Amino acid sequence: MAKLGLRSRLFLSHLVVMMVGLSTLLIVNKLFSPRLFVLHLERLEGSGFNLLLVRQRLVEGFDYAWSRGAFWSVAVGGTAAGGLSYLVSRRIMQPLVQIENVTQKVAAGHLEERLPSSEIPELNRLALSFNHMAANLEGVEQRRQELVSDLTHELRTPLTVVEGYLEGLADGTIAPSTDIYQRLARETARLRQLVNDLQELSQAEAGYLPIHTQALDLRPLLKSLVERFSDQLVEDGPVLKLDLPADLPPVLADLQRVEQVLINLLGNALRYTPEGSITVSAWSKSDKLWIAVQDTGYGIAPEDLPHVFERFWRSDRSRDRHSGGTGIGLSISRRLIELQGGTIHAESELGKGSTFRFSLPLA
Ligand code: ADP
Repeated sequence: MAKLGLRSRLFLSHLVVMMVGLSTLLIVNKLFSPRLFVLHLERLEGSGFNLLLVRQRLVEGFDYAWSRGAFWSVAVGGTAAGGLSYLVSRRIMQPLVQIENVTQKVAAGHLEERLPSSEIPELNRLALSFNHMAANLEGVEQRRQELVSDLTHELRTPLTVVEGYLEGLADGTIAPSTDIYQRLARETARLRQLVNDLQELSQAEAGYLPIHTQALDLRPLLKSLVERFSDQLVEDGPVLKLDLPADLPPVLADLQRVEQVLINLLGNALRYTPEGSITVSAWSKSDKLWIAVQDTGYGIAPEDLPHVFERFWRSDRSRDRHSGGTGIGLSISRRLIELQGGTIHAESELGKGSTFRFSLPLA
């Protein structure tokens, strides 16, 4: 047997309620009214009226009037109640049908569809949460599309270079040389770097990166990082300095993630600072510890500064320079700092240098 729809169920339930009400009314009336009428007649006779001749006619008249009255009450009342019930069921069903249509459209990929508000509070709440969900889905979908288009753009360049060299080598237009092979290796290393960074970024953006915060003294980490990076400095390049206060309060952070951020900031500073100095400093202010990496390098143009934390963004100059960067490092750093409850900022002046500073909550 086919299952009944909600509208039919509502309508039927109204009808059942109405029928029970009407039948109770009719039965109770049928049982009591004639008796009460007869009683009334007897009382009239008792008070001196002579109803002997008309009594039978009166009772028949009453019966007739009662039946007609009952018939019309049932007919008119039943029709009115039935019609009303139909209208009410339809009114409740209308938004439900609309919800069904819109959810089907969203499921089919039209993520911009939204439910209108309803005068029924429960349905209105449902519409609000549905719209919220659809907006979230739309955002995820938009970010996914952006990521794919950024990614194809970023992958295309090294792939085109590798393809060009390989084709040249294959048809003999390029003579094989150590230099060519080194270039090929550089491009493939870049591809590998891009893939690794992307994996990190997607995990960080989706919030899957495990963060194990604990009370940490950052002094040993900062010292060892500065030592490690000092080994990479070239003779006439910048000098690396560490400027820490006498007492460095412990922070609530994940050691590995803080190290990852610092490696990125120091790596950038080294990459974009041909001479001068790179200074790592730290200070505490209210309930936060701030760590800064300041360089005297190329700097970043004011119009570029707001974009440095966007994924895949690199200044034109660093693209030209073939810095080997992927433009993902700072996006990952920002996400990692935010996941640990901090913030990260960049200040810079073109030709003078840049300062990247981030905060971590004190333990
Ligand atoms: P990349 O891997 O390209 O360095 P990042 O996300 O770490 O990616 O940095 C994005 C861009 O920001 C860089 O390509 C560079 O143009 C600019 N940038 C970052 N750090 C510095 C800095 N210390 N000095 C100048 N420019 C910088």
